[in-house]
Amino acid sequence: MTAVPTVTLNNGVTMPQLGFGVFQVPDPETAAAVSHALEVGYRSIDTAAIYGNEVGVGQALASSGIARDDLFVTTKLWNSEQGYDATLRAFDASMDKLKLDYLDLYLIHWPTPARGLYTDTWKAFAKLAADGRVRSVGVSNFQPNHLTEIVEATGLVPAVNQVELHPRLTQEPLRAFHAEHGIVTEAWSPLGQGKGLLDDPAIAAVAAKYDRSPAQVVLRWHLQLGNVVIPKSVTPSRIAENLDVFDFELADADVAALSALNVDSRVGPDPDTNNEA
Ligand code: NDP
Repeated sequence: MTAVPTVTLNNGVTMPQLGFGVFQVPDPETAAAVSHALEVGYRSIDTAAIYGNEVGVGQALASSGIARDDLFVTTKLWNSEQGYDATLRAFDASMDKLKLDYLDLYLIHWPTPARGLYTDTWKAFAKLAADGRVRSVGVSNFQPNHLTEIVEATGLVPAVNQVELHPRLTQEPLRAFHAEHGIVTEAWSPLGQGKGLLDDPAIAAVAAKYDRSPAQVVLRWHLQLGNVVIPKSVTPSRIAENLDVFDFELADADVAALSALNVDSRVGPDPDTNNEA
């Protein structure tokens, strides 16, 4: 079975560099997809309260027979639950659905700056970490000014910032900010959500050179940049294919060729203006 490398977070906790995302997987289908992922060797699962599938994730974890210590589970606080007390309640609700005693990584899903609540929310995250309810706390979709604000208010540096990142949105300035502050970069939509990006002729050319699929060379690109990745698939063959990326390496010129596809183009919302409740 494939051994997935780990990254060490700023509090010493280790996290698999490749995990399994379940955005847009309906709850009734989630247990089967996560079970398949666990069977082929994934140990890190990325869900969120808003995905509505924490119950399915929890069922797959419980029935897997895999020791809790060998799993790494991430969920995220939804925007409408921001604020100190609401966060503590939302955390308990997620844990009830996941049927877990502790969580590995809890993320603030979006800053939603217009609400002005992400700093209070981060204070609740600090309490959950101090109480041992969650091993590591982080954020998602935070820009440098949001990160600076929560660190100045609490002294607690997020372990991870999970952001949209793929060859058409390479996030160089944000990655440099993370590196400077000891924050791990986790890439969401690492495949650019599949269609479009994976049909790019430049990616097809690199894939042909290594006799790999376009998805595999894109995942390899992320891994070699040091990103944590969480590709999603409900297709068993793709679930296995996306994990089968640890026995080849891209030459620096091919990493650069993929990075050169950057056009700062998002498939998801802009974190500065997304205030969705
Ligand atoms: P991905 O970039 O992982 O792409 C998923 C799409 O690519 C699906 O349509 C899937 O199809 C297809 N696909 C997967 N593997 C392959 C392959 N080997 N070859 C061809 N096509 C493939 O997109 P996501 O948006 O799902 O991002 C991944 C995860 O990131 C999410 O599941 C979620 O956990 C997280 N995320 C976090 C966000 C945040 O705000 N923090 C926002 C968005 C995502 P199929 O399933 O049909 O096989």
